[in-house]
Amino acid sequence: MAEHESLEYGKADFVLLDNVSMEEFMANLKLRFEKGRIYSYIGEVVVSVNPYRAMNIYGRDTIEQYKGRELYERPPHLFAIADAAYKAMKRRSKDTCIVISGESGAGKTEASKYIMQYIAAITNPNQRAEVERVKNMLLKSNCVLEAFGNAKTNRNDNSSRFGKYMDINFDFKGDPIGGHINNYLLEKSRVIFQQEGERSFHSFYQLLRGAPDSLLRSLHIQKDPKGYNYIKVGGQIKSCINDSADFKAVADAMKVIGFTGDEIQTVYKIVATILHLGNLTFGVDGDVTLIENSKLVSVIKDLLSTKEENVQKALLYRTVATGRDIIEKQHTEQEASYGRDALAKAMYERLFCWIVGRINDIIEVKNYNANVHGKNTVIGVLDIYGFEIFQNNSFEQFCINYCNEKLQQLFIQLVLKQEQEEYQREGIPWKHIDYFNNQIIVDLVEQQHKGIFSVLDEACMNVGKVTDEVFLQGLNGKLAKHAHYTSRLKIRANEVVGFIDKNKDTLFQDFKRLLYNSSNPVLKGMWPEGKLSITEVTKRPLTAATLFKNSMISLVENLACKEPYYVRCIKPNDVKSPLLFEQERCRHQVEYLGLLENVRVRRAGFAYRQTYPRFLQRYKMISEFTWPNHDLASDKAAVKSLLQVCGFDHDVAYGKTKVFIRTPRTLFCLEEQRAEMV
Ligand code: ADP
Ligand code: MG
Repeated sequence: MAEHESLEYGKADFVLLDNVSMEEFMANLKLRFEKGRIYSYIGEVVVSVNPYRAMNIYGRDTIEQYKGRELYERPPHLFAIADAAYKAMKRRSKDTCIVISGESGAGKTEASKYIMQYIAAITNPNQRAEVERVKNMLLKSNCVLEAFGNAKTNRNDNSSRFGKYMDINFDFKGDPIGGHINNYLLEKSRVIFQQEGERSFHSFYQLLRGAPDSLLRSLHIQKDPKGYNYIKVGGQIKSCINDSADFKAVADAMKVIGFTGDEIQTVYKIVATILHLGNLTFGVDGDVTLIENSKLVSVIKDLLSTKEENVQKALLYRTVATGRDIIEKQHTEQEASYGRDALAKAMYERLFCWIVGRINDIIEVKNYNANVHGKNTVIGVLDIYGFEIFQNNSFEQFCINYCNEKLQQLFIQLVLKQEQEEYQREGIPWKHIDYFNNQIIVDLVEQQHKGIFSVLDEACMNVGKVTDEVFLQGLNGKLAKHAHYTSRLKIRANEVVGFIDKNKDTLFQDFKRLLYNSSNPVLKGMWPEGKLSITEVTKRPLTAATLFKNSMISLVENLACKEPYYVRCIKPNDVKSPLLFEQERCRHQVEYLGLLENVRVRRAGFAYRQTYPRFLQRYKMISEFTWPNHDLASDKAAVKSLLQVCGFDHDVAYGKTKVFIRTPRTLFCLEEQRAEMV
């Protein structure tokens, strides 16, 4: 227990509440927030409340306090959980992961950065150059990913618009030797549209504000963001972010990570192309669709290293195969605009994935010889979008919320179910805890044939009419009887608007071919499928929903085989205030994060458990019966006698292989007695 804190700050671990009720939970959370204690525990889960102010708790001295300590020895902190994950990895050769969840603006990304900084700070005591290089790259990669994947939203000035899972690989000495990043569902619709008060991705503004004049000239870009249709929609051009300084930091980071000059130039060219694309307008003359500002086409062809006529053609026509014939079909004005926007979104998304891929090429562990170095273990850090409920919710929110249901399911499985099962295995009486198992929600979304994603995919494959209404009717037909399905038909039919389109995610093959045929090898390399001619494109590409579902399933599988640590982030208010604790808002989050249930399980159960030999190893010096060795029949008997002598017998249960201690306080007393002896 983090007993170095006085009770004036509330209970550092919610397990110690006198009564487990929502009222007490909230009162404790509020008290701690107001006293500047932003971290608390539920057993080994860290609960964090966004302080919205700079806290002096992440410095070198604090790092030293947590390094190598046990969780309960110090006040609750992210560093304690990072250290626990690190110790498990190093001492027990376990792959571990830290799952950070919470809604947008709750502090997930900041937490993930502090965790990475902590790990970087406590490793490589011998200052090996190669390890320092890897650490530097891991830290620098953040800055690049945030430039291209983050944006100002109404909830968060630096909101991550993609999910991120990062593995850090460690060698047998426990030093980082590489890493790997997985990214999930970039919100690419933001490239062409932003809600009132929001911005597009930082990278656009960084280029306009920070690039040297010569670069801007070569890209035919002017400095004023208002000149670009795509990034002025949200009306929010300024933010408290320093775009100009960030441009330089990102350029520097790309260089340090190892992007070549040509690669960096291509990145800028793509960002600029997208800005120009947004200003392209189409018109009609008789039955001919045409581009109104053809000068831009010339600029775009330069940036893409291709021919003007090819750009023009890709924007105005699409190649279709009808039976044996291949014809070029002219777009309507509307189709041409649709194609242009799809191209802009696809280019940006591809650029983002390519950046992640390049970073991975460079940081991935190479030539790792397991025989020489022993096991290569990993710590994974997951920072992924939390639940989102907006005024208008679309396909993206559906995917994001599905992802959170999946993670909640994993949490339930691992923390709640696993806990119950362990007691059963150890032969310890267990009082059943009721909790809402959200598996039924997960199934509703992802089940084969019957789930919402399946119905959506089916609606997309309809021959003939493919509209959002068809999808909605499909849902009503198939799911009407499901306990957790309510038709949106009457209430808000607009909640399905855009699902079909976003799920199909069509990009005409002509665009892929255009980009593949670029004489810029970097750009060409991003579009390998452009190689196929129209007759070779037979398979329907997987839908966005299917791709996302598959990526979530593999993410969960990956997490499930690691030892998990959790950080649950709470956003105290909507106005970024360091003072305001909005009771209702926080209660809602505590509820959907299932924190109260989490406390109940921890309390019904035991705060701490350890195998008998390990327990003895740590505490045998406390009792004369066990120090330096015991002569009892078993380690179990020795632990029993030790705890009886200390007077903790009432707070303990003895399982088949492990001792279980009910309250953290007992553990703390043991720690104190141990400290007196050693
Ligand atoms: P999320 O990733 O959950 O959407 P962020 O981590 O980006 O949220 O945090 C949003 C903002 O809140 C940050 O930009 C920062 O201003 C503030 N913030 C979050 N965590 C902390 C912290 N530990 N200390 C100080 N400010 C924080
Ligand atoms: Mg974030």
